[in-house]
Amino acid sequence: MPPSPPDRATPKGDDSLLIVLHHDATEADLAHVVQRLRDIGADAHVSRGRTRTIISAVGDRIRIQQLPWEAFPGVERTVPVLKPFKFVSREFQSGDSVVQVGGVDVGGGHVTVMAGPCAVESRDQLFRAASAVKKAGAAILRGDAFKPRTSPYSFQGLEEEGLMLLAEAREEFEMPFIAEVLDPRTVELVAQYADMIRIGARNMANFTLLAEVGKQDKPVMLKRGMNATIEEWLHAAEYVYKEGNHQVVLCERGIRTFEDQTRNTLDISAVPVVQRLSHLPIIVDPSHSGGRRDLVAPLTRAAIAVGADGVLIDVHPAPETALVDGAQAILPSEFEVLMDEVRALAAALGRDVIG
Ligand code: PEP
Ligand code: MN
Repeated sequence: MPPSPPDRATPKGDDSLLIVLHHDATEADLAHVVQRLRDIGADAHVSRGRTRTIISAVGDRIRIQQLPWEAFPGVERTVPVLKPFKFVSREFQSGDSVVQVGGVDVGGGHVTVMAGPCAVESRDQLFRAASAVKKAGAAILRGDAFKPRTSPYSFQGLEEEGLMLLAEAREEFEMPFIAEVLDPRTVELVAQYADMIRIGARNMANFTLLAEVGKQDKPVMLKRGMNATIEEWLHAAEYVYKEGNHQVVLCERGIRTFEDQTRNTLDISAVPVVQRLSHLPIIVDPSHSGGRRDLVAPLTRAAIAVGADGVLIDVHPAPETALVDGAQAILPSEFEVLMDEVRALAAALGRDVIG
């Protein structure tokens, strides 16, 4: 006989109260709150972050809010939240989150530039790109060892060898690196090497993968799916946050529209819209959105002007030989000029460029 389904209380609504524990709350304090929620028929979702534990209480709103949670030992405060994405909402946290990537801040009023090749192709290619972006002032190196390709016959990445080269470049050029993870089975491998793990547009709604990176102790960049609304994107971020990984950065990388002059349409308004809805940092990818080298500089300028916390830019020492995305990669010399513009624009807006 198949096992009988678990005993389920009446269906729960989405209404929720967040109960934030003091940083020094004990396990017993946590267990006490969870038990009281269960007693009144509510669900408790516990998110243990580095700095604090938050309990999301879902169930009968009136019954939950009637209890004097602030009087419970270990409870710092409660936040009633109506939005379906709770932890990542401004209602939950009014101040901006700052995410640390190997000692480099993302968010908090700075501009952080991440740059490098789309994919790691060889030691020589990676080191030439890394040396150039470092010299021009990028703070974080990008380079992927696992590539999501439209065709299964295209170059798929150097896998662990690529991660090892990136780790070598980190030492050589003293810059942390970000790399994409495609599959829950390689999350630990990528997290072991990278300073920040990236979920690409194609995997934004891969909830198993999101939950897996949510369990890692490494910052996560979550790109917007090309067909995703802002609300769907924030739900995806909630999947990561809820698992206890609170170091999440969003990245706008363009969406599919009827326009075919560009690969995707950069949704520049997503930046201020997200900043109203969420406390998470948001950066822009001017390379994968337009998909065209000539658009990288204008889109980067737009990103800084609109108030993004940074940019993610493809730079290749010889784009004509690139195994992936050569058409959108800019040359080191072009990147150098662009960095001057980024610094000038940021300064005009009272922001500093990290690096
Ligand atoms: C990338 O940054 O290399 C990439 C694959 O981007 P996206 O997931 O936005 O297409
Ligand atoms: Mn690419």
